[in-house]
Amino acid sequence: MADDKVYKNYINGEWVDSVSGATYENRNPADNRELIGLFQKSNAEDVNNAIVAADEAYKKWRLVPAPKRGELLFKVAQKLDEKKEMISQDMTREMGKIIKETRGDTQEAIDMGYYMAGEGRRQFGETTPSEMRNKFQMSIRQPMGVCAMITPWNFPIAIPSWKIFPALVCGNTVVIKPATYTPLSVLHFMEIFDECGIPPGVVNMVTGSGSSVGEPLMNDKRVRLVSFTGSSEVGSLVSQACAPDFKHCMLEMGGKNGQLVMDDAKLELAIEGALWGAFGTTGQRCTATSRVIVHKDVYKEFVERFVERAKAIKIGNGLDESVEMGPAVSESQMNTVLEYMQIGKKEGAKMHCGGGRVTGGDYDHGWFTEPTVFSDVTEDMRIFQEEIFGSVTSITVCDSLEDGINKLNNVVYGLSASVYTQDVNKAFTAMRDVYTGIFYVNAPTIGAEISLPFGGTKATGNGHREAGKQALEVFSEWKAVYIDFSGALQKAQIDEFEIE
Ligand code: NAD
Repeated sequence: MADDKVYKNYINGEWVDSVSGATYENRNPADNRELIGLFQKSNAEDVNNAIVAADEAYKKWRLVPAPKRGELLFKVAQKLDEKKEMISQDMTREMGKIIKETRGDTQEAIDMGYYMAGEGRRQFGETTPSEMRNKFQMSIRQPMGVCAMITPWNFPIAIPSWKIFPALVCGNTVVIKPATYTPLSVLHFMEIFDECGIPPGVVNMVTGSGSSVGEPLMNDKRVRLVSFTGSSEVGSLVSQACAPDFKHCMLEMGGKNGQLVMDDAKLELAIEGALWGAFGTTGQRCTATSRVIVHKDVYKEFVERFVERAKAIKIGNGLDESVEMGPAVSESQMNTVLEYMQIGKKEGAKMHCGGGRVTGGDYDHGWFTEPTVFSDVTEDMRIFQEEIFGSVTSITVCDSLEDGINKLNNVVYGLSASVYTQDVNKAFTAMRDVYTGIFYVNAPTIGAEISLPFGGTKATGNGHREAGKQALEVFSEWKAVYIDFSGALQKAQIDEFEIE
């Protein structure tokens, strides 16, 4: 445990203070009297030191056989597993989500470690027949160099693991800037790399703000790729920073995910799914169910039963195993959510429960917001269109499958969606016609697994995917190789080949 401790940056295999000499406080959002620790308030010079280390380490790391790199990742995954409870408890303390969910977050990193360790023995390329005699051709993957990672606070270890493991197994080196609110989880990750004997400079962590650490990192010419997860606003800045140097840029951004409930759905299942999707992680998931679109024939019943259940959610400190929903991550996040509750009311949506901060006793020391349900939400309302990232969900009526699908699609984002129906034809139609990166049938909009590609369309992403074997596409580049063993000059597309 970590009370009143000063935590350092991890650069070139050493724990070092920022050259700024300054630190910032990280406090528990469920009880802001608790100081989690002091973290380095780093600047451009620290970023430079980390990039120098990563650049130097790359020369050797890229030549370590990929299966060996994989074996090291396997050890890291084992160590994460051994330390799972400690990491998860600290994550709940620094981020607020309930302990069951932080265990899930850590488990996702473990799963990703084992998965990517296996990729050390795959990373398949292709061989294809040549048009010429006595010529061999194949494609191979090559690493890229220093990869920069800028990560959000809502999945403090899972998201860094989605980036770091595939980057390393492909032979790249890493500089990560964790979210300002959740550096401790990434620091534990670094401790494990260190204990497992990762060579100095292969992974580096620099803590601090977006402007003083993120910006110099994404603007540095020695960085070959920036992998970013966060808001679409900052993602756009990352993309612009990468453009002048043609840096690769992987963006995973916001969502406004919808669950469609058809008239033939198992209603209890759909209600449970929407509750978990909307209020799990206090609604602070990129895949959160912030819209529920319900067929008119079951709308009234759905709203009544859903609201009753939302009212009963137990709110509190996530370390208490019986608590179902923790606080917002910060005061400013809480204020944003409270503001959206007012916006919904002003727009004329019907608020059934919630609408404010949870106060009284210990709650006064945390950033707790009530589970809030709006119905009669229309497509023109901001609460239908904008990402809220908190304990608010909106219910909208639809009168057919086609209407429901149109409503699911009618937002700028395209991360996740789901349909509840017992009709296989409706399920497949929705699967085909909803334009998102992730789609569920009879399950909520949250709950992705690491072996399939993760990411979204439209304002959610720029076409790349994390996780699964698709992650290798992000962290390696293809090289096409031709070997002519004919002993003569053969000209592709020009020489005629005669069949003898
Ligand atoms: P954010 O965009 O505010 O911050 C993300 C990261 O960018 C942080 O590390 C932050 O310090 C850094 N940053 C901020 N300003 C920067 C700048 N000017 N230059 C460089 N870096 C900068 O997002 P957040 O509040 O941490 O996370 C919430 C957002 O993340 C939501 O929009 C959510 O949907 C999104 N998210 C998306 C996914 C996904 O996979 N699609 C997953 C999780 C979260």
